Amino acid sequence: PSNGKIIDGKIIATALKARVAAEVARLKAEHGLTPGLAVVLVGNDPASEVYVRNKGIATVEAGMNSFEYRLPGTASQDEVLAKVRELNADPAVHGFLVQFPVPDQISQQAVIDAIDPNKDADGLHPLNAGRLASGLPAMVPATPEGCVIMAKLAGGDLSGKHAVVIGRSNLVGKPVAQLLLKENCTVTIAHSRSHDLPGLARQADILVAAVGRPNMVRGDWVKPGAIVIDVGINRVPAPEKGEGKTRLVGDVAFDEAVKVAGAITPVPGGVGLMTVACLMRNTVIAACRQNGIALPK
Ligand code: NDP
Repeated sequence: PSNGKIIDGKIIATALKARVAAEVARLKAEHGLTPGLAVVLVGNDPASEVYVRNKGIATVEAGMNSFEYRLPGTASQDEVLAKVRELNADPAVHGFLVQFPVPDQISQQAVIDAIDPNKDADGLHPLNAGRLASGLPAMVPATPEGCVIMAKLAGGDLSGKHAVVIGRSNLVGKPVAQLLLKENCTVTIAHSRSHDLPGLARQADILVAAVGRPNMVRGDWVKPGAIVIDVGINRVPAPEKGEGKTRLVGDVAFDEAVKVAGAITPVPGGVGLMTVACLMRNTVIAACRQNGIALPK
């Protein structure tokens, strides 16, 4: 039955969040340390508002301090960088992120470059990307971490398996590929210039789709028994729900792929839920490192 194949983000993320909350309780009791996560929101993009709210709720639920800073959509780059420097210097903040996208007048890269790499909750600073690629301890982007946790739960030891990652962004594709390499996978990274994407995908024991194109990966792109991790979050019209209504779909045509895959993450209810849980874990890791405390397992 296809139900047994579905990798349930809710169950996995709930368990991970519970472990993080237990670790936070231990840090408080044994070290008098309460980890803190700050989120900066520039402007009021509706999707970003939802993400920021969910992050704040999860932070509080984990027993950590949550800080939220809002700047108007008209804020200058200097104003955003000043906020970044303030958070770099704030001892109560162990990790923080600026919610992307930021308005056009602000350079995303300038913001990333200004973040103290030790507090870089999203793991986007070039120093962290380089440390990850070098096999050194790093702050790792949360979504890719969530992908690999799910793949390991579904597939056990991933060593020697062929992983095909579609997408090469700094936020998802590249770090997923690095993490899978660390798990001893043979990794192929595909992107918009790759030839014969379906043929590449069909070679995958582990197929990660991080593209941003609704239902692009079809059932016949999937090798029978493969683990499929769908990172895409795409809003599409859903006239069946009523006029003007929308729904979320992934980059994988789920109804087709679920018949072929050995295991698959749904959208919604898959990778997206892991992202917040991994962000919570990143904050705890940052707080431990900054205070010379051994990392949780
Ligand atoms: P980007 O737009 O930054 O990157 C998309 C990647 O897909 C690029 O590398 C691009 O290739 C590649 N691509 C685009 N079109 C094609 C195509 N037709 N064939 C092959 N490759 C293609 O997106 P992100 O990496 O930031 O995000 C990817 C998806 O994941 C989005 O749907 C996003 O919403 C979702 N997401 C979900 C998260 C979660 O919490 N679950 C978190 C972050 C993102 P090229 O480099 O050649 O242009």
